[in-house]
Amino acid sequence: MTNLSSLEIEIARNLDSVNNRISKAAKSAGRKPEDILLVVVSKKQPVRVVRAAMNVGIRNFGENYPEQAVDKIAAFIHDPNIRWHMIGHLQSRKIRIVAQKFHSMQSLDSLDLAVKLNESLGQEKKILPVLLQFNVGGELNKHGWEASKEEHWEELLPDVAEILKLPFLDVRGLMTMPPLEIEIENARMHFRKLYRLKEFLQHNFPQKSWSSLSMGTSVDFEVAIQEGATIIRVGQAILGTRV
Ligand SMILES: *Cc1c(COP(=O)(O)O)cnc(C)c1O
Repeated sequence: MTNLSSLEIEIARNLDSVNNRISKAAKSAGRKPEDILLVVVSKKQPVRVVRAAMNVGIRNFGENYPEQAVDKIAAFIHDPNIRWHMIGHLQSRKIRIVAQKFHSMQSLDSLDLAVKLNESLGQEKKILPVLLQFNVGGELNKHGWEASKEEHWEELLPDVAEILKLPFLDVRGLMTMPPLEIEIENARMHFRKLYRLKEFLQHNFPQKSWSSLSMGTSVDFEVAIQEGATIIRVGQAILGTRV
């Protein structure tokens, strides 16, 4: 092995520990660790940190702000294995950046945005994997379709039906960012609700495979895995505190 920098050593160590925890959580739920994609959230981290992460083998990165991601994406444009996932609320005027440069969009949170993103992708002649973001915790000011009350889930169906018709969006599943809970069991309740919502959508739109569930961050990814997450989004537990 070539000499690693201290930053690379630290990230490698964190990655190893997170991977072990993923394995344990998966096994405790009778699942296979390899069915869970770890997206490393690099928001607010400089290119230098992303490079160190790349050097220890990380290939899937999550970003919240397209305008901050462009420099990092450009720095590794020649690596065909790297994947950039958009995980934050997308403003209309930044849609083009996502259409052109990202490999997935996990935070699709309105029909209006879906229509505009589809249009932009059409110009690029590119089909993008997307997840629909739901607000299952009932917090005000949270992005995503309000889905805290199961008795209102029927009301979500018209928007979802419209989105499924958009040819440049490949809808793969659901994403949520629940309220930060002190009690881990409260987080579990939110993840369970997203899982049930996935089954509800699967039942109503059986022609689609609703296989992806993106939920869980540094503080609660193990619970998310136990409740069916197929994608977890982990930042600080791997890259350290954000600047
Ligand atoms: C920041 C962020 C994460 C990662 O949070 P960490 O605490 O760094 O693990 C995951 N998902 C979303 C949507 C985020 O904004």
